[in-house]
Amino acid sequence: MSKQTLSFQAEVAQLLHLVTHSLYSNQEIFLRELVSNASDACDKLRFEALNNNALYEDAPNLEVRVSFDKAAKTLTITDNGIGMSEQEAIDHLGTIAKSGTKDFMGKLSGDQKQDAQLIGQFGVGFYSGFIVADKITVESRRAGLKAEDGVRWVSSGSGDFEVETITRAARGTSVILHLRDDAEEYLNAWKLKSIIGKYSDHISLPILMEKEEWRDGELINPNDENGGRQPGGMVKTGEWETINKASALWTRPKKDITDEQYAEFYKTISHDYEAPLTWAHNRVEGNTEYTQLLYIPAKAPFDLWNRDKKAGVKLYVKRVFIMDDAEALMPSYLRFVKGVIDSTDLPLNVSRELLQESRDVRLIRDGSVKRVLSMLEDLAKHDRHDAPAEGTNGDVIDVVDADDKAKEGKYSQFYAEFGAVLKEGLGEDFANRERLAKLLRFASTTSDTVTVGFADYKARMKEGQEAIYYITADTLAAAKNSPQLEVFKKKGIEVLLMTDRVDEWALNYLQDFDGTPLQSVAKGAVDLGKLQDEAEKKAAEETAEAFKPVLAKLKEALKDKAEDVRVTTRLVDSPACLVVQDDGMSTQLARMLKQAGQQAPETKPVLEVNPEHALVKKLDGSVHFHDLAHILFDQALLAEGGLPDDPAAYVKRVNALLA
Ligand code: ADP
Repeated sequence: MSKQTLSFQAEVAQLLHLVTHSLYSNQEIFLRELVSNASDACDKLRFEALNNNALYEDAPNLEVRVSFDKAAKTLTITDNGIGMSEQEAIDHLGTIAKSGTKDFMGKLSGDQKQDAQLIGQFGVGFYSGFIVADKITVESRRAGLKAEDGVRWVSSGSGDFEVETITRAARGTSVILHLRDDAEEYLNAWKLKSIIGKYSDHISLPILMEKEEWRDGELINPNDENGGRQPGGMVKTGEWETINKASALWTRPKKDITDEQYAEFYKTISHDYEAPLTWAHNRVEGNTEYTQLLYIPAKAPFDLWNRDKKAGVKLYVKRVFIMDDAEALMPSYLRFVKGVIDSTDLPLNVSRELLQESRDVRLIRDGSVKRVLSMLEDLAKHDRHDAPAEGTNGDVIDVVDADDKAKEGKYSQFYAEFGAVLKEGLGEDFANRERLAKLLRFASTTSDTVTVGFADYKARMKEGQEAIYYITADTLAAAKNSPQLEVFKKKGIEVLLMTDRVDEWALNYLQDFDGTPLQSVAKGAVDLGKLQDEAEKKAAEETAEAFKPVLAKLKEALKDKAEDVRVTTRLVDSPACLVVQDDGMSTQLARMLKQAGQQAPETKPVLEVNPEHALVKKLDGSVHFHDLAHILFDQALLAEGGLPDDPAAYVKRVNALLA
């Protein structure tokens, strides 16, 4: 039974340091985290026992016990859940299994306030014990193992921890916190009960504490005036009582649940520090019966961009926990949604594989996606009067949404955090594409803030305008100053400015909005249709005709760089710009793909020139024709944020002309 001393994974040591230094302002959450782990451990046991009833041993009633010892200054949280083997204790309490941990650590700034927020989003779990303890002992025995195969894990939360084999009759885990001197307030039953009431009331297991009763002090001298007693005190009675409601929150009628309770439940399942933005709690009957309690967080988690990140919805079947992160229940573009789905109809032994194929699961997923979309529509409606909420399939018989009044401004907040993820849905969820399109917001040439929906845009379209115009670029500044916008600005036509990386890809999946085609102003020849009057058209045609010989020379000079060279009416102040063929990939997307090390098709752009521009007029008959042609092309590339193939040659050419 030798003791081993092992080192924490580097990230754990770092996290521990931060936990103890940054989370001080909200210490008491440690209890929520530990009770939540205990409850998870019981859920896991119940799940494993579905196939192996012997795991219950002689203790079929799952529970969590909280106790303290004033003299020893310890606070202990004990569960009779699944427990840990020695190796599991080493693995689970010595490393962080979450993907993206390294990225997360990289984001920490050293600023305690900021970091505390980030840690909140990361979820500290077990390690939060070190907020109040300078040493933690964990004693555990995994269900199904022999009593001699127990483990003791001890650490003071700095660089390393010790593990040794112990004998432990009881299945499950005790987490013993050796409290710091300044955390002795937790050695108090009243205090503990109030924290548990606040954070863990909704836990579906009983949380027990030993009853205490007042005992008078010992009689010393009965003749004394004050009774002659030593001071009395609270004494443990050996009797345990349940101190929480012990029924899963989502199974309770909504009228019995306060906003605070909803928010606390969210914090427990998400490990988020902040309250959620909104939630919906429904019992759905119809083709399949289930309860959904779905939350939209206020802040994006640190690993939102990890597309492999699991969805945040927990699956229960008839109140029995089945699995975390049930990806079959929520599509990837809604991976930010947290919550619980409790099905009445699925079999208890449902596996991940089975989930993928189940008709009930498909119905639940469809219903849940619709519910999330209508939550968002509802927020959007309160933000700006559009996007009416639509119903879900299945008969909703019990609906509660977060308070109506507090919804203002929330959609913008949501969109700033998750808008770009939502856009992935255009390519992922064809059935809901139209609803999703209504939820999108962009900046535009008339709005610097990301608040313009397609519907707003349509309502403002000019008489005779036949398309919704947009441009994609790396930054808002690049989009706003793009030469391609010049004619639109001149004519006062609004253009949507799209600057999310995902825009270009997502917009591929959206040809039109509500019957109006979407048109990139950087793709194909500009066709303003009825917005251009006959005189303008005629003048443009005449200029183009007169310019033909120069065009031919330009094409020849640039044949390695440009697919075609043509005259355009889209430019006002700039001499030239690049566009792609109607069906081509934009130069911006091609550049992005190349940066990401992916293959982009080698398509050449089309150079469009403005025959009214002084520089372009100079071309005809110039001795510098060849250099000017290349400068025009390279400048057009620069203007849209690209780089000439041979920057040095470009500089040389410009300098030659300047000199
Ligand atoms: P998380 O709960 O987010 O995975 P924690 O740091 O809280 O992260 O816990 C790490 C792991 O340690 C858990 O995933 C679980 O495997 C194990 N663990 C923690 N507490 C318990 C417990 N009371 N019983 C069994 N396993 C536990």
